[in-house]
Amino acid sequence: MGSIKGFLRTERDLPKTEDAQSRIEHFKEFYIPLPIAHTEEQASRCMDCGVPFCMSGCPLGNLIPDFNDAVYMNEWKEAYRILSETNNFPEFTGRICPAPCESACVLGINKNPVTIEYIEKRIIEEAFEKKWVTPIVPKQITGKKVAIVGSGPAGMACAEQLTKAGHQVHVFEKSDRIGGLLRYGIPDFKLEKTVLDRRIELMKAAGIQFSTGINVGEDITAKELKAEYDSIVLCGGSSVARDLNIPGRISKGIYPAMQFLTQNNQLVAGDRIPENELINVKGKDVIVIGGGDTGSDCIGTSNRLGANSITQIEIMSKPSNSRGLNDPWPNWPMTLRTSTSHEEGCHREWSILTKRFISEDGFHISGIEIVHILWDKDEQGNYKMKELEHTKRILPCSTVFLAMGFLHPQKEGLLEQLGVELDERGNVATKNYGTSVPDVFAAGDMRRGQSLVVWAISEGREAAKVVDEYLMGSVSALPSKELSSLSL
Ligand SMILES: Cc1cc2nc3c(=O)[nH]c(=O)nc-3n(C[C@H](O)[C@H](O)[C@H](O)COP(=O)(O)OP(=O)(O)OC[C@H]3O[C@@H](n4cnc5c(N)ncnc54)[C@H](O)[C@@H]3O)c2cc1C
Ligand code: SF4
Repeated sequence: MGSIKGFLRTERDLPKTEDAQSRIEHFKEFYIPLPIAHTEEQASRCMDCGVPFCMSGCPLGNLIPDFNDAVYMNEWKEAYRILSETNNFPEFTGRICPAPCESACVLGINKNPVTIEYIEKRIIEEAFEKKWVTPIVPKQITGKKVAIVGSGPAGMACAEQLTKAGHQVHVFEKSDRIGGLLRYGIPDFKLEKTVLDRRIELMKAAGIQFSTGINVGEDITAKELKAEYDSIVLCGGSSVARDLNIPGRISKGIYPAMQFLTQNNQLVAGDRIPENELINVKGKDVIVIGGGDTGSDCIGTSNRLGANSITQIEIMSKPSNSRGLNDPWPNWPMTLRTSTSHEEGCHREWSILTKRFISEDGFHISGIEIVHILWDKDEQGNYKMKELEHTKRILPCSTVFLAMGFLHPQKEGLLEQLGVELDERGNVATKNYGTSVPDVFAAGDMRRGQSLVVWAISEGREAAKVVDEYLMGSVSALPSKELSSLSL
């Protein structure tokens, strides 16, 4: 530990953001960089706890006190070495992770936690700037071939780890570009795609083969893949979105959130969208149904595209501003989250049930009928919702985005061809990342269900270790982590 009284001397401080009104004029990231000494001072707040709860809060088990200390000591290359031992892509998590490590930080009990996520981002950006990040060169080549289906963070992490172990890796992606939801879900204002491209170039230079525009199960059959590769790892994500099948659903102007976000990411990348497919929210009154990350990204995107008004409604009740008896430190706090997209302007309501979509002209959406609800426990202790009398009203709108989460992966095609067993939620069932089909493994949202980038990276790494042991019949030298009990 470098500074004994750092946490007493220095307050938590993060880089300021560009003003909301000016940043909605563009899709770029908007944090204003601070001198490197500022990060070193922030790292000095770390107490190097005897039991570093931050580490057990992190699904990757990042060696947080160690890299904090190295940063404080101005040993940035060492900090990068420590960070890259557990995290393949700190440039992603350093930007978009909800940072369960910070929620678990001991300093957070009675002060503001260490700025762990920001320190992580600064370390990796420094490493890229100084050209310390180089392609992985395996120590030996095993001659084993692995196919990875899906190029999101789980597939990317798995590919990198298996390459490290000396296997020949081929990643298949049905979309036209690599990255999964990092590419076509998360907008550039949270994660600029140059950050993703820079990493992919390194992975290609390490010998990882990427094939885009190949839908496994359609363009190449599961049988063909099985015949050519020693193992297959399914990292196809959770893509079937929850719909809202209530009266009026057929009205025009109601879109799944991912249709809007994908399209906008394509536009920002310079692609052309045919006029008749373009979702134009300029001057429109937008309603976003669903209060999570996806909904928040729809708000940020709609504001940038000039929506007239944006209202976000959520069926669950409004979380409190501080921890309660059910979520004490170091658990993940179920508190109110206000994203930078919310700060840019929108109206939010909670405990709202949507009853029907209204179309005045019988064609296009013109409003939604909503009712306020109360969540109460029944005799069995299960939460039940009750509609409140005299609270029905109509919210006028011309565009609705459905952002109510994802149910499970797509079953038709690849999963059906392979015949893998699914769990009760419809995700790929696994035992230690192995599916019910020999030689076939699964990781990320396809196995776990809708989750986080940090969990996808963690799962990709863990699955790679299991696959390496399976292929080589001996204990893998790849690092592993006992998965944290403090999961989100
Ligand atoms: C809008 C949105 C915003 C989010 N924001 C955040 C955030 O801020 N922070 C955070 O931590 N998490 C966020 N998440 C969650 C996070 O993006 C996911 O948990 C994570 O990307 C899952 O990674 P994955 O690799 O398992 O799957 P994905 O990223 O979904 O990638 C799966 C890939 O597999 C491909 N694929 C599927 N089937 C086939 C097939 N048969 N053949 C070939 N390719 C196939 C898909 O095209 C896709 O590219 C967000 C999610 C969404 C939808
Ligand atoms: S819990 Fe917080 S203060 Fe303690 S080691 Fe981790 S980052 Fe440092």
